[in-house]
Amino acid sequence: MVLATNLGFPRIGAKRELKKATESYWKGEISEEDLLAAGREIRRTNWLMQKEAGLSHIPVGDFSFYDIMLDMSALLGAVPDRYHWNGGPVGLDVYFSMARGNSKLTAMEMTKWFDTNYHYIVPEFEQSHSFKLSSRKIFDEMEEAKALGIPARPVLIGPVTFLSMGKAKDGSDPLALLPQLLPVYKEILEKLKSQGAEWVQMDEPMLALDLSESQKEGLKTAYAALHGIGPKILVATYFEGLRDNLPLAASLPVEALHIDLRRGAGQLDSVLGALPEGMILSLGLVDGRNIWRNNLRASLDLAKKAVAKLGSDRVWIAPSCSLLHSPIDLDRETVMDPQLKSWLAFAKQKLFEISWIATALERGEAAIANELVTSDAVVKDRATSPRIHNPEVKKRMDSLLPSMMERKSLFKMRQVIQQESLALPKFPTTTIGSFPQTATIREARAAFKKGTLDLAGYTAAMKEEIAEVVRFQEEIGIDVLVHGEPERNDMVEYFGEQLAGYTFSQNGWVQSYGSRYVKPPIIFGDVSRPRPMTVEWSSYAQSLTSLPMKGMLTGPITMLFWSFVRDDQPKSDTCYQIALALRDEVLDLEAAGIRVIQIDEPAIREGLPLRKDNWETYLKWAVNSFRLSAAGVRDETQIHTHMCYAEFNDIIHSIGDMDADVISIETSRSQMELLEAFVNYKYPNEIGPGVYDIHSPRVPETHEMLVLLEKAAMVLDPSQIWVNPDCGLKTRAWAEVKPALTNMVEAAKLVRGLYPGTSYHSS
Ligand code: GLN
Ligand code: ZN
Repeated sequence: MVLATNLGFPRIGAKRELKKATESYWKGEISEEDLLAAGREIRRTNWLMQKEAGLSHIPVGDFSFYDIMLDMSALLGAVPDRYHWNGGPVGLDVYFSMARGNSKLTAMEMTKWFDTNYHYIVPEFEQSHSFKLSSRKIFDEMEEAKALGIPARPVLIGPVTFLSMGKAKDGSDPLALLPQLLPVYKEILEKLKSQGAEWVQMDEPMLALDLSESQKEGLKTAYAALHGIGPKILVATYFEGLRDNLPLAASLPVEALHIDLRRGAGQLDSVLGALPEGMILSLGLVDGRNIWRNNLRASLDLAKKAVAKLGSDRVWIAPSCSLLHSPIDLDRETVMDPQLKSWLAFAKQKLFEISWIATALERGEAAIANELVTSDAVVKDRATSPRIHNPEVKKRMDSLLPSMMERKSLFKMRQVIQQESLALPKFPTTTIGSFPQTATIREARAAFKKGTLDLAGYTAAMKEEIAEVVRFQEEIGIDVLVHGEPERNDMVEYFGEQLAGYTFSQNGWVQSYGSRYVKPPIIFGDVSRPRPMTVEWSSYAQSLTSLPMKGMLTGPITMLFWSFVRDDQPKSDTCYQIALALRDEVLDLEAAGIRVIQIDEPAIREGLPLRKDNWETYLKWAVNSFRLSAAGVRDETQIHTHMCYAEFNDIIHSIGDMDADVISIETSRSQMELLEAFVNYKYPNEIGPGVYDIHSPRVPETHEMLVLLEKAAMVLDPSQIWVNPDCGLKTRAWAEVKPALTNMVEAAKLVRGLYPGTSYHSS
C-alpha cells in the first residue's frame, strides 16, 4: 500500500500560540506547567489534523519550544559547561539559557539551517564532556501521541548531520566524536522501539551537500551501528538532489530513503536505478518550502513511475522536506484575493495533497477526480493568467543588454568625478539608513494602515520625523545624510507592497528563530513598478539640506530571497524583473536630484546554492541583477551597497564584481577581522567597515571607534575608507544613537587628523 506520510509540521500554532506561550513564560507571566500545557495543545492539534488528512506516518518529536537542534543537544547531553548543568534531565531553565542566554551567560551561537531562513542553535562540543541521554522529551511525546491514537513516527536529526552542523570548541573535526555519540543514539532507538515505534525518521540533510571523507565514513559507520537495534530506519535527505552522494545513500543499511523531488527534481530515475532490493523510497513531491498548490498530475506521473518499478509497498508519498518552512493554514486567509488564494497551499493544505496522491495511487485517479480537476484548472490558470504574465515586463526582459549592467565609466574615473561633485572630506561619515523606530512612528504607521489616520496626517507625521533626523545629522556633522526610513516597517515588505506581482498574507507566519516569526511576501507574477516608491520621501529629505541625501533601496537579491518566490520560472528571471523595477526607481531618484543611492543586499550570501558547483551560476545572475538595478546612473551618482553578513571570503570576487562605488559592511564585532577578505582581495572601490555594533545597547566610546578606524587604515588605503555603523539603527533608542553617532563623527575627525597627507580619493 502506498502510504501518505509527513516529515515535520510547523510548531508555532496557526494563531502563533507558541510565541505567546514562550514569551509569557520568559516574562514570568505563566508557569512552567502552563507552558508545557500550551506545547501539548499545539502537538495535539497538529497530530489530529494530520490524522484527519489521512496520513499513515505522523512525525513526533518535530515539536520544539525553541529549536529542534537544541532539543537534540539536550537529548544527547551536549550542554556546554558554562550553563552549570547538573547532569540530570535538561530542564527548561538550562534549555532556554542555552537558546537565549541570561543575565550572566551568553547564548549559544545561532545560524541559518542550510539555505533556509530558519535559524538553529549550533551544537557546541567540549573535550571535557561525554554524551549521555539527558532528556525525556521525545519519549514523553511518543506516549502522548499513542494515547491519542496517532500513528507516530519519531523524528531525530541523524548523528552525522548533528555533528556536522555543530562546532568543536578546539576547532577539531566534530565527526571524531561519532564513536562516543553512537551509544546514546542506540539507547534512544531501543527506547523508541520499546515504546512501540515501528519506524524512526533520521534526518540527514548533509547528504545534499558536498561531503568530506570523514562525513562519508561517518554515515557508513553510524548506520551500520544503528541498524537493527531499534525501529526500522528512514533516512531523510532534503533541500537538494543526492547527485554524487546517491551511491552512498543507497548503500546505507537502512529500510527507507527519503528524497526531495522539488529541489532535486530530475533525480527520480537515477534513484530508482540505484535503490537496493527491498528499500522503501519516500517521494518528496509536495513542496515543503514554498506556498504553491501542488500540480497533482505531475506528482502522480512521478509517483506512478516509482510504483511501477518498486511496487506499491515500497513507495511513500511525502512533502519534499519538513513543512516547518511553510505557513500553516490557508483557510485563515480571509481577505486574500480568491484567484491568488486558489493557487496556494499552506502546510495544512499540503497534508491533503500528500494524501490525495497516495489515494490516487491506491484506488485510481477516479478517487480524487474533483481534486484533479481543480489542480489542472490551477495549473492552466497560472500558465495563462494576465495577472501573472505581463507582456511589457516580458518585452523588457527580452531586450536586456549587457551594456545595461555596465556603469558608463570605470570606477577610478567615476571616483574622480564624484569627488568633485560631492566634495566630501576624507573618511566621510554616513549611516546605513534607518533611525530609531519610535513608538510614535509605529503608531502613526499602524493608524494609517487601519484608516484612522488619513494620508495627509500620515505624511505630515513622517515628514516631521524626517526633518528631525536630518536636523540631528546636520547638527552632529554627518557628511552623507539619510532620511531615516520611518515609513518602512520592513525593508522587503515596504517595496513588495508597492510592486506589481507581489502579494501578502495575513497569517502566513513561518518561524525564523525561537519566538521570532516572519511573514514573507509572495511573488506570484511578473514584477513591475507602477509608480515611484521612495522619491517623494527622499526628495523631501533632500530639500531640507544642502548636504547629499542618500536614497535608500532594497536590492533585487534580497527582495527575492526574503520572499516566497514563484516556481514557474527560474529565480534568475524573477530577480532580473525586480532589478528592472529598481532600476527605474534609481533613475527617478537621480532625476529628482539624489546624488547618492544605496541598494542594500544583506541576503546575497544566503542565496548561495548548497552545492559549490552551482555557485558560479548563481553569483553571476545575482551580481548581474544588482548591476542591472544600479548601472543606469550617471558617473557622478554614487552607488552604495550594504551587507551585514559575516564571511565574505568565498564570495569576495563577486562582491567586487557588483562594482558599487561604496560598500558598507558589518565588522565592529569581529574587531575588523571581517575586513581581511577585502584586504586580501585588494578591494578597489570604497568601503565603510562598521565601527559601531548596533546589535548592542552599549554606546561605543570615540576612542574605541578610532582604534577600529586606525586598524582599517593600516590595511586599506585611507582614501578608500568611510565611517559608519554596522547596520541600520531602527532597533536602537535615540538615547543610545545620539551619543554613539556623535562619538562616531568625533572619531572620524580624529582619524582625519592622523592622516593629514591623504586627500579624499587621492589614490
Ligand atoms: N537600510 C536598512 C536599514 O538601515 C538596512 C537593513 C539591513 O541591512 N538589514 O535598516
Ligand atoms: Zn545591515
